[in-house]
Amino acid sequence: MSSDSLHNLTAHEAANLLGARQTSSEELTRAYLDRIQAVEDEVKAYVTVLDAGAMEQARQADRQLAAGEGGPLTGVPMQLKDNLTTSGVVTTCSSRMLKDFVPPYDATVVDRLRGAGAVFLGKGNMDEFAMGSSTENSAFFATHNPWGLDKVPGGSSGGPAAAVAASEATYSLGSDTGGSIRQPAALCGVVGLKPTYGLVSRYGLIAFASSLDQIGPMTKDVTDSALVLNAIAGHDPMDSTSAPQQATDYTEALVPDVKGMRLGVPKEYFVEGMDHRVTAAVEAAIASLEDMGASVDREVSLPTTPYALAVYYIIAPSEASANLARYDGVKFGYRAEDTQDIWEAMEHTRQQGFGAEVKRRIMLGTYALSAGYYDAYYLRAQKVRTLISQEFEQVFERYDALLAPTSPSVAFGLGEKMDDPMQMYLSDVCTIPANIAGIPGISVPCGFVDGLPVGLQVLGPHFGEQALFRVAYAYEQAHEWHSMRPNL
Ligand code: GLN
Repeated sequence: MSSDSLHNLTAHEAANLLGARQTSSEELTRAYLDRIQAVEDEVKAYVTVLDAGAMEQARQADRQLAAGEGGPLTGVPMQLKDNLTTSGVVTTCSSRMLKDFVPPYDATVVDRLRGAGAVFLGKGNMDEFAMGSSTENSAFFATHNPWGLDKVPGGSSGGPAAAVAASEATYSLGSDTGGSIRQPAALCGVVGLKPTYGLVSRYGLIAFASSLDQIGPMTKDVTDSALVLNAIAGHDPMDSTSAPQQATDYTEALVPDVKGMRLGVPKEYFVEGMDHRVTAAVEAAIASLEDMGASVDREVSLPTTPYALAVYYIIAPSEASANLARYDGVKFGYRAEDTQDIWEAMEHTRQQGFGAEVKRRIMLGTYALSAGYYDAYYLRAQKVRTLISQEFEQVFERYDALLAPTSPSVAFGLGEKMDDPMQMYLSDVCTIPANIAGIPGISVPCGFVDGLPVGLQVLGPHFGEQALFRVAYAYEQAHEWHSMRPNL
C-alpha cells in the first residue's frame, strides 16, 4: 500500500498491515500527520495536534509489535474529543475557560487506550462543554463537514466525526449526552456508538450532565466500533455509576446475519417537518434489513417520545448548572484579572470565560432548580424521565432492537441555525430519548441526500450492544456506504 493512502485505512485494516509487518506505526502516524497538514485548513477538526508525542508513541508501539506484543489497536493513530482529560496535554472543552488547562491525570478511557498501545494524534474540536449540535459553539473555530465544507459536521463531537470522515484519524472518541456522538456521525457518514449508561467509565470526561453523559467510539465502520468498545468498556471504581459488567468481546456480535431478529420501527421518530429524502433513505435501509430475514414491525409506538426533548432541556441544563459551578477562577482554568474582590472576580471570570450557549444553559438550569420552580420543572421532568424509560423497557420485551433515523435532516449550512436555539435543539429529537433512558444507540451510514450522508439509528435495551452491532454490521456489509470517502 502506498503511504499516501495509508490514512484511508480502518483500525482493523491498519492492525492487519501492522501485524504482517507491511507498515509500521511510525509510517502510519507520519501518514496521518501529513494528512492533517494537508486538509486541516479546510476541515478544522483538531484543537491540538500532538506531532512529537504521537511519533514517540508510534516508535514505542513499533517496539511492542516487533516483540510480538500488543493488541488490535496497538500502533493505530487516533484522536480524542477535547473533553477527555489527557495527562500533561491541554484539555480545553473548546472553551476559553479551559483554554490553558493541563490536567494532571488521564481519563480512564485514555488510560485504557494508552495501555492498548494507541497513538494519540491530538484533541478534537467540539461545541463548548459539549453543548450544541453543530460545533459552531466552539470558542475557537467551527469545524467543517468533509462532505460539504460549507456545512456543519454536527455536534457536539463535530471534530471527532469530521476527523474520521476526512481520514485525519483512524478513529476518535466522542461523548454523547443528547446525541453528540450519533448525530455528528450521521452528518459526517461515519459510525457512532453511544454505549449503555454505565458501560464506559466517565472518569476524566469533563462533566456536562452526569446522568446522561457517555463516552463512545466514532469509527469508519462497525468492526472498529466493536474493537474500540472492547478496549474502553468495563467497570471502573473511579466512576460510581460504572456498571459491574462481565468483560464482553463485542466482535463476536459481528455476524452478517439478522435472520429471525425482531426489529421495531417507532413511528414517533419520523417527526413532522423531517426531510422526506432522509425518510426515504432510512426506510430503504429498514426494507433491506427485512429482505435479509429480520422481522420488522413498522407499527411500534413510543407515545412519550415527544416529551423527551423537553425533559432533556430541563435535566441537562440543571445538571450542567451544578457541574459548571466549579469554574470560578479559584482553583483552575481562566481567571479574570483586575477585579476588586472575590465576588467580582468570579462574576467576571464566568462572564468572560463562558460563551453564550453555556450561559444560556446555566441560566435555564438554575431557573429549573430554583425554589418555587423545582417541583414544576425539575421534579416533573424526572417523573416523565421514568415514564420514558419504562416505555422502552416494555417495548424491548417484544423487540431485539429499534430502527429509526439518527437526525431528521442531513448536515445544515454553517451559520444557518446559530440565531435560533430552538431550531438547533430540535435537531436532537431522535437521539435524546436514548440518553434519557440510558439505553445504547448506534448510527450507521445509510445513504446520501444531495451528496451529504444520512444515518440509520439502531437502539437496543440496556447492555444490548451485541444486538446493535449485529444489526449495524449486517446492514453495513450488505452495502457500500462505509467504504465511501469524501473528496478533499
Ligand atoms: N445537542 C445536544 C445539546 O446541545 C446534545 C449535546 C451532547 O450530546 N453533548 O445539549
